[in-house]
Amino acid sequence: GGDPYSDLSKGVLRYRTVEDVLTPLEDCFMLDSGAVLDFSVLASIMQSGHTRIPVYEEERSNIVDILYLKDLAFVDPEDCTPLSTITRFYNHPLHFVFNDTKLDAVLEEFKRGKSHLAIVQKVNNEGEGDPFYEVLGLVTLEDVIEEIIRSEILDE
Ligand code: ADP
Repeated sequence: GGDPYSDLSKGVLRYRTVEDVLTPLEDCFMLDSGAVLDFSVLASIMQSGHTRIPVYEEERSNIVDILYLKDLAFVDPEDCTPLSTITRFYNHPLHFVFNDTKLDAVLEEFKRGKSHLAIVQKVNNEGEGDPFYEVLGLVTLEDVIEEIIRSEILDE
């Protein structure tokens, strides 16, 4: 058919999960929701090289927003604009997926949706208390494509 992924998805995408390819939370470049967009914060965003920046409240595991690099087009570092002013204005939707989601399913979601980034969470029921959602990291279309290429090279 006309879908270039149809053959590939018969392989590695069927059994590998987002947990296998995600960028772990500790490696994610993120911003505190209380941040002010002064020169040094804007410079750190540029330096990160990423186009989408998760925004957390209080703890890094509590992701509440996402900032796109292009949202900063009209931000003047001299104004020291609060980050929350920008995130409230654009209000991009956040997408969550569970850690055990297969790569073919998340690829379908990326193709259907507008965003090519999802926050990966798992249900943690290891402790004594009630189960809770634990954020493990983020996954993007790039991570899925990299896995396809990697598997092609290794001829899985
Ligand atoms: P970008 O070009 O914004 O980095 P990509 O979708 O091309 O986004 O992703 C490239 C790699 O960077 C992927 O491994 C992805 O998981 C990771 N990534 C994307 N955004 C971030 C971020 N804010 N912090 C850390 N890693 C990220």
